[in-house]
Amino acid sequence: APPAASATPATFKVNSPNVTYTDSEIRSKYTYRTTSVETDASGNFVATPKETAYEFKVDRKVPKVGMMLVGWGGNNGTTVTAGILANRRNVGWETKEGPRQSNYYGSVVMGSTLKLGTDAKTSKEVNIPFHNILPMIHPNDLVIGGWDISKMNLADAMDRAQVLEPTLKAQVKKEMVEMVPLPSVYYPDFIAANQEDRADNVLEGSKACMAHVEKIQTDIREFKQKNGLDKVIVMWTANTERYADLVPGVNDTADNLLKAIEQGHEEVSPSTIFAVACIREATPFINGSPQNTFVPGAIELAERHNAFIGGDDFKSGQTKMKSALVDFLINAGIKLTSIASYNHLGNNDGKNLSSQKQFRSKEISKSNVVDDMVEANSVLYKPGEHPDHCVVIKYMPSVADNKRALDEYYAEIFMGGHQIISLFNICEDSLLASPLIIDLVIIAEMMTRIQWKAADGDFKHFHSVLSVLSYMLKAPLTPPGTPVVNALAKQRAALTNIFRACIGLEPESDMTLEHKLF
Ligand code: NAD
Repeated sequence: APPAASATPATFKVNSPNVTYTDSEIRSKYTYRTTSVETDASGNFVATPKETAYEFKVDRKVPKVGMMLVGWGGNNGTTVTAGILANRRNVGWETKEGPRQSNYYGSVVMGSTLKLGTDAKTSKEVNIPFHNILPMIHPNDLVIGGWDISKMNLADAMDRAQVLEPTLKAQVKKEMVEMVPLPSVYYPDFIAANQEDRADNVLEGSKACMAHVEKIQTDIREFKQKNGLDKVIVMWTANTERYADLVPGVNDTADNLLKAIEQGHEEVSPSTIFAVACIREATPFINGSPQNTFVPGAIELAERHNAFIGGDDFKSGQTKMKSALVDFLINAGIKLTSIASYNHLGNNDGKNLSSQKQFRSKEISKSNVVDDMVEANSVLYKPGEHPDHCVVIKYMPSVADNKRALDEYYAEIFMGGHQIISLFNICEDSLLASPLIIDLVIIAEMMTRIQWKAADGDFKHFHSVLSVLSYMLKAPLTPPGTPVVNALAKQRAALTNIFRACIGLEPESDMTLEHKLF
């Protein structure tokens, strides 16, 4: 039976003439302050403060939500499922280091706090759980389902993944035996040949067709109906695919993409089939792998249907460190000159990535993550100048999911000196990715309940491409023509400040003048 909804405590209310609460909505009038820059005749910048008036509307009713994973039987799919089941029952287990308790560590929404303001009496910071800033769903309430090309039930698949402790697995096994992935779309050319032996749960046909799109749509609808859900969010956590070639007339526009699917064109990938099905079903679809699922035609289709999409590639370990560390180095005025990144891993993801075309997708995704930070600093870098950046991934079966990531950052410091930073990061890859899956689902769902309007317009949703999910993603997809932000701190600030704006609160500026001017 579907789980009961857990109530989110209403821990605070905003006291402002610009903010109104009803039983069903929070409305806020918000002034967005930016700085507009022009260049004058003598080539100098002229910076002009600019104000734009917006109104935000948040639907307060927390819906009943389903999370459907593509690649449900994989390491991430089984780990996030077991983690949610264990949390739902507050399961504890024994390890050689002593007892352990279920938690949501590593999830921004469930594990971090944000500053609400300063205590009126003591001037101390008041911080609240991130989850409480808006009426968000609780991960314990998610109904979980999905697809996999392997028909192994989730309990056996969890054993295959070799991620969780036996004493924990024993307590969720009974529920997970009953969970069996739906058959999926399998076009062998898109993933490594070494995956073929697990493909025993596939829909008929090995190239794109409308029947596949429609079958996925039916699966979503049936899952919704069977579990009495208001909404479903779909996430691709299946194998990394090779890139699809961008071919004019095939995947460049929405109409061409639909035509290419009908004609069974070989450059339409399974992940794009899932994206198209979700878009047509107005179901948010997020891509957790690096391939170019969102070809231009898919993005145009999402815009046409006002459907939400997000991607690409979970930002879990090495790249998350990189987008924090490089942000720090360059903003400290230190000239980073090279990054050498090496990984070895022994899970099925590593096995798939040992194939050149699939590795190439990952290499592209991992390579562009410092561009915005470098480009923003014209003091250290000339136009077009860039640190050397090399990414290596090797498959080493015996380390299983315990991925090793070794990075060397080489930088130029004061007066010709050098700084070398070496990092050695070891952890269960799927234990980093699972909380990101949860964050992506919760935030994407929240975004479906937020609307905005300009002074003279009507309420509408945010753009189809949810760039607000960037914090969790390695190669953030942004609305066509808009800049990509990779810097971790900026990504988090965007997320928290947009959520604050929805309840009429100013961005967190960290000026703390109250502690400086007296
Ligand atoms: P995994 O190989 O254990 O799981 C992938 C699952 O997808 C497998 O069970 C496989 O059978 C299934 N699959 C393959 N093609 C499918 C299809 N067309 N339809 C349905 N199912 C299909 O891999 P994982 O470790 O769970 O990682 C999943 C993905 O997430 C990979 O692409 C990986 O690159 C990406 N990723 C993982 C991390 C991380 O930290 N774990 C970080 C970034 C990205």
